[in-house]
Amino acid sequence: MNRPASPPPEPLAAPGTHTPSNFLRQIIERDLAQHTYAQRHWGGSPGDAAHHAAGPLDAAKVRTRFPPEPNGYLHIGHAKSICLNFGLARDYGGVCHMRFDDTNPEKEDLEYVNAILDTVQWLGFGWQANGTSHLYQASDYFAFMHRAAVHLIETGHAYVDEQSADQMRANRGDFVKPGIDSPFRNRSPQDNLERFTEMAHAKHAEGAMVLRAKIDMASPNINLRDPTVYRIRHATHHHTGDTWCIYPMYAFAHPIEDALENITHSICTLEFEDQRPWYDWLLERLIEGGLLASPPPRQYEFARLNLTYVVTSKRKLKTLVEESHVNGWDDPRLPTIVGLRRRGYTPAALQLFAERIGVTKSDSWIDYSTLEGCLRETLDVSAPRAMAVLDPIKLVLTNWEEAFGVASHLEPCTAPVHPHLPELGKRSFNIGKEVWIERSDYEAVPSKGFFRLYPGNKVRLKYGYVIEVQGADYPEGTTQDAIDSGAAPAISIRATVLKDTKSGTPGSDAVKVKGVITWVAVAGALPAEVRLYDRLFTEAQPDAGGKDFLESLNANSLKVVQAMVEPSLASAKADDKFQFERHGYFVADRVDHAAGGKMVFNLAVGLKDSWAK
Ligand code: ATP
Ligand code: MG
Repeated sequence: MNRPASPPPEPLAAPGTHTPSNFLRQIIERDLAQHTYAQRHWGGSPGDAAHHAAGPLDAAKVRTRFPPEPNGYLHIGHAKSICLNFGLARDYGGVCHMRFDDTNPEKEDLEYVNAILDTVQWLGFGWQANGTSHLYQASDYFAFMHRAAVHLIETGHAYVDEQSADQMRANRGDFVKPGIDSPFRNRSPQDNLERFTEMAHAKHAEGAMVLRAKIDMASPNINLRDPTVYRIRHATHHHTGDTWCIYPMYAFAHPIEDALENITHSICTLEFEDQRPWYDWLLERLIEGGLLASPPPRQYEFARLNLTYVVTSKRKLKTLVEESHVNGWDDPRLPTIVGLRRRGYTPAALQLFAERIGVTKSDSWIDYSTLEGCLRETLDVSAPRAMAVLDPIKLVLTNWEEAFGVASHLEPCTAPVHPHLPELGKRSFNIGKEVWIERSDYEAVPSKGFFRLYPGNKVRLKYGYVIEVQGADYPEGTTQDAIDSGAAPAISIRATVLKDTKSGTPGSDAVKVKGVITWVAVAGALPAEVRLYDRLFTEAQPDAGGKDFLESLNANSLKVVQAMVEPSLASAKADDKFQFERHGYFVADRVDHAAGGKMVFNLAVGLKDSWAK
């Protein structure tokens, strides 16, 4: 069932050489070794057989393309396709075309077009090669597509069908039942041509008739049961205006777009596998007729990316944005590339992800933590470190004056910008009588295994001193029970500083402690808004099996806290990434950071996978 008319040739295993990392690379390397496309000419721009024949041999060894419809923002699935297509072209001396698939006469949104171009470039790819821009739009090929349709009619390979849509559907048959020929199937080419001309001249209503290829109504592949080629749409196209009132079907247009552009390897997702015989059939007819250059492009299918805890269908993403479940297309919780970017994802992280998940021929789910792991890995090696207190409570060092002479004394401390990149130097900050620490670092009565602050315990303030905890102060009237159970929030914590224990000074480690905590001195601390993002959905496959994905929205996917951060962050610019020690990786928000003088950081990813079992 649905056997391709011409299965793609088996990859050649070249003994003694390297093993290509995926089946597409194997196919390309085989084609290069066999010079499959070496004799193709390139007319300098997309065109028909004559146009290309007049040009020199194609300098591009392979041509791939990334063909989005300009009807939404790109998402992580598209990133896989972009990295794949542009990456293959780059690695094999080829060119990847950037093509807008705008054959649908729907309103094109310039916002989407620009966002898509921007995204592809941001990911590190471009469509300039050999001094030429390979940025194309499929609507430029309408005239050729019409000519191709006329050719099919003239050669008896297409007919105008006036059955209703319902009749056509009923007569197409199904997996067990062959289709039934349309009563219009055997009209003469002359009749068909007249009708098709009428269609193109707006003589008929939408749905009154369609042009169909005449292939085989009994084919086990339903896509070959006389597929529709052209339909009537009285719509204004954003580029071609009212020139056309007939528009090509996607499965007819796409192979032609590929062929006109001299694409060699047309890579698409698995759901198009059954369309491949139609793709091949069409191009064979047009090559026979001398309209298109040979050899034709070939279609190869790979498994689309399914990522857990997100939805990637454009329609569903649109719902999330339009119903304000998130704050716009670039909300850091969305798997849109603009969202991921605002979350702190870098091109390197997304490229690593694309490489790591690879390409396969069977559908599977990739766990969201794989994506997060790529971000963590890429940021770990590069992100400057900083201290931030996300839920601050004041710690008062009660013997400060005694130890340093005056209560206002500030003692300088240093810390490496990055523990493994000494060339990045040191950051400096002070410690004083009062410091901010995390509220959760204090327990009046320590739970088992708790090594941080509790009365009588000693801990180190990282890069600073060892302190000995005295206790905490509570609002008047707080009961001892409330204090002991941790239910009563303390106002501040008290401790004494052990003067000879300053990090980096001789003998500083004479006092052994089990706990080291992060802090920011009250003097010099900068207030910052920190947006703590979590997964947008509580279910791994929010839309699987037709489930309503809105039902598993995570109500706690965004928590905003007012933090205190170390003074070195004063120079942070939008998009700068940091590791907040002990907390994770954070990025200065692209949009809101420094707007109105406020610092805003987004949680990119935690230090560890908090979802791992
Ligand atoms: P959606 O279903 O979200 O609307 P789409 O497939 O219609 O996506 P297009 O703009 O037509 O979006 O896609 C452009 C290219 O991106 C296509 O070649 C398509 O195969 C690829 N692509 C889209 N989604 C994924 C995905 N999840 N994994 C891999 N490739 C994808
Ligand atoms: Mg699509």
